[in-house]
Amino acid sequence: MSILLNADLHCHSVVSDGTLTPEALAERAKAHGVELWALTDHDEVGGQQRAAVAARDLGLDYLSGVEISVSFAGRTVHIVGLGFDADNQSLKQGLLATRGGRGQRARDMAEELARVGVPGTYEGALKYVGNPELISRTHFARCMVERGVCKDTNEVFRKYLAEGKPGFVPHRWATLRDAVHWITQAGGAAVIAHPARYDFTPNEEYALFTEFKAHGGIGVEVVTSSHSAAECVRYADMAREFGLAASRGSDFHSPDESRIELGQLPDLPGDLTPVWTLLTDRIQHGTVL
Ligand code: AMP
Ligand code: MN
Ligand code: MN
Ligand code: MN
Repeated sequence: MSILLNADLHCHSVVSDGTLTPEALAERAKAHGVELWALTDHDEVGGQQRAAVAARDLGLDYLSGVEISVSFAGRTVHIVGLGFDADNQSLKQGLLATRGGRGQRARDMAEELARVGVPGTYEGALKYVGNPELISRTHFARCMVERGVCKDTNEVFRKYLAEGKPGFVPHRWATLRDAVHWITQAGGAAVIAHPARYDFTPNEEYALFTEFKAHGGIGVEVVTSSHSAAECVRYADMAREFGLAASRGSDFHSPDESRIELGQLPDLPGDLTPVWTLLTDRIQHGTVL
């Protein structure tokens, strides 16, 4: 498997905070030239079977995927899992527990937003939710755009939902150790998602990479839609320094919101080890009839 393979190993469906079904995403990935695809819904593997079947029928190679929310050094970090057994009970139990606090958190967020003059967002966000266990900030953002509170979801996050803003409610997610263990004991590879997004100090970031590796994590997203060219270079260096494989994923959520289309990303730097070359026996091959 070549480093030039058009792999897109990070995106979201209606099973979490995307707006397309797993089937529509599979079609869109295929149409945009993706050769190896993974659906990575937040804290949930409920869409894996549908994604794998849709990919198979389109002749598209598939890796199982998930993006787990983790609390580390007082911030939220995302860990992508790839190529695991999606029926693994420990993984499913862990994800269920991780999803568990979202309902109360959403009610608390709505209360905080009402306090700053934006009432009724819990009910409003629910209209956008495809999976009742997976209400997320993205659903609040969509509701607030619809109501004209902000012009787009980025503005909602900037003004209301990002850390430190009035609608942000601190939350305790999974531990780094648990997330990496759930993925690896299910036969998968753990990957640090979009590392440039965390605003860590250099010491905190070093601790994240060191502990992630110590727990058995093996990869880092180097090329992803939220990384600038300079950030891709920086995390390619981190992959080399820590001996981590590299992943590539658009983090596509919606045709209306995502700036980068499925499969439309720069290639990985040529000297890195693509994470998919370590997962060849986990790939579910597409078969066109
Ligand atoms: P949650 O898991 O409920 O905390 O929601 C996290 C999700 O919010 C992420 O996966 C993104 O889809 C979305 N998100 C976070 N920050 C931003 C931002 N600045 N602009 C748009 N979407 C964002
Ligand atoms: Mn998301
Ligand atoms: Mn993420
Ligand atoms: Mn994501």
